[in-house]
Amino acid sequence: MTLTLFSDFGLAQPILKALAAEGYEKPTPIQAQTIPYAMEGRDVCGIAQTGTGKTAAFALPILHRLNANPKPRKPKSPRVLVLSPTRELSGQIADSFKAYGRNLRLTTEVVFGGVTISRQEKALAQGVDVLVATPGRLIDLVDRRALSLRDIEILVLDEADQMLDLGFIHALKRIVTLLPKERQSLFFSATMPKTISTLADSFLRDPAHVAVTPVATTAERVEQSVIFVQTGRKQVLLETLLRDPSIDRVLVFTRTKHGADKVVRGLDKAGIAGAAIHGNKSQPQRERALAGFRDGSCRVLVATDIAARGIDVEGVTHVINYDLPNVPESYVHRIGRTARAGATGLAISFCNDEEKAYLKDIEKLTRLKVPVMPLPEGLPAAPAASEASEQRREASHRNGQPQRGRPAPHARGNQGHGQPRTSDPNAEKGPKRRRRGGKPGNGQQQVGQPAGNQQRSAQAQRPAHAPRPAQGKPAASRPDGRRDGAQVAWLEKSPRRR
Ligand code: AMP
Repeated sequence: MTLTLFSDFGLAQPILKALAAEGYEKPTPIQAQTIPYAMEGRDVCGIAQTGTGKTAAFALPILHRLNANPKPRKPKSPRVLVLSPTRELSGQIADSFKAYGRNLRLTTEVVFGGVTISRQEKALAQGVDVLVATPGRLIDLVDRRALSLRDIEILVLDEADQMLDLGFIHALKRIVTLLPKERQSLFFSATMPKTISTLADSFLRDPAHVAVTPVATTAERVEQSVIFVQTGRKQVLLETLLRDPSIDRVLVFTRTKHGADKVVRGLDKAGIAGAAIHGNKSQPQRERALAGFRDGSCRVLVATDIAARGIDVEGVTHVINYDLPNVPESYVHRIGRTARAGATGLAISFCNDEEKAYLKDIEKLTRLKVPVMPLPEGLPAAPAASEASEQRREASHRNGQPQRGRPAPHARGNQGHGQPRTSDPNAEKGPKRRRRGGKPGNGQQQVGQPAGNQQRSAQAQRPAHAPRPAQGKPAASRPDGRRDGAQVAWLEKSPRRR
């Protein structure tokens, strides 16, 4: 039942057109598994993490089905309800519906707590097709008679495990009683312990089960290491690592498009052939870069996360995270580019002081401690000018200048909920989370050999801080900042919303 092209699913043309505009070339595994069932109107129970493309996995068939069976909008009575645990994720999901449905006459509204309810009441009174909501605010709106769930045709419950972590179980139990029995339900969770499957049973009828590989499995296959390094020395560190001939085919990830270009320029000056691939490159430029990488004429490909999605190149021996992603799931996707088909892959991450929080988040997600690799002996100091300009740049970011992109890590958790987070205008995508791993090894390591045996075994250790977050935390304020990741992902989408 695995289809390989979006056009194989029978999705309406306006949706296919929107996907092309988004730059999606082929379905992700969760999409390939979920869409056919959802198109048939079947219930689905899916195990998938953020970052797998699960939003489109449910949004595309929903839009198709609504469009195929048009109905006049009724005040206060949406046709689709998507429940999500946090306001950030809700905003992200609503944006996805709007993006994929841009060529359809359907409307999407998002409601969450922490902002005035009257605007939301007004929007609902006008009638919307798709409502994305956090459970608490949804119930408030029902209680105020601003919303009825009587006409819901399709329900999505997203990130069910987080819903429970955040203490929404009672809200969910109440919501299910307000929904029509005749409906389609799509249920997603990153994990499926007994408590979650029991919850799923209360929502679903004869569901199709779909799953994508748990992120931890990917992470466990790849040998990882981290090098703590100041921003200004990252370029020279990269060049030093790349002098090791065992680094045969390497994908280097930067957070921004501008960063990717800068790295390639630096490599060029150092006499190392590299090519960049990101959203500002034209299709022919991308194709040329990829072809060179595939045929081995260019051994270094520098990419942003978005550009790297869908790149499938055999034999990537190393992944280097020049910048750590601020969404931890992206880290797993990045390192999964190596170690394909059972091959062993090596992933080396550069981590400056600001990125240490991201490292911590990554280690929480993967439940693995990333071994630390010392800086290569004799690594030249940062060029004075670049260090100074870097510091100026970082200072300007901290000084409240609008930052469209990723927030400085230290600011995470203090953001106003529902406020689009700002950061680097070039940010094309972002991961986060990591932790300060084990203590640096005793001796200097061979450049390009990410970890010795000792470190290799350390890789399998679960960090002590790995347990899941405590229950009952208010939405979007989890100490592990997981939703911050979603928020950043939300921001990443904004350039594509036209
Ligand atoms: P999600 O797991 O739904 O949060 O999606 C993660 C990211 O993948 C989002 O930035 C999506 O825009 C992107 N994405 C989803 N499906 C595809 C696809 N088929 N091709 C490329 N990117 C995708």
